[in-house]
Amino acid sequence: MEIFIGPLTTVFILLIMGILISKYADYYVNHMHFECPCCRMCFKLSKFEFIFSLKTGKLNERIVLCPYCGYRGVMLLIED
Ligand SMILES: [Zn+2]
Repeated sequence: MEIFIGPLTTVFILLIMGILISKYADYYVNHMHFECPCCRMCFKLSKFEFIFSLKTGKLNERIVLCPYCGYRGVMLLIED
């Protein structure tokens, strides 16, 4: 039985982390938006896109693709 504790614990931790990341992404997706520096359009990302968007190292900055003009670069997260 002991042999199952290791993998089960790992799965459990991953599950908890997944839920936490999902909740964290939910907050950002629901309360923040991006503004494209190129075309000045505001847009939101889906939760999935948000989780996998690249971080720049600075808080509230992500490297994302503008759905309107196709510009890809650093954009600030702005509160709604
Ligand atoms: Zn744009």
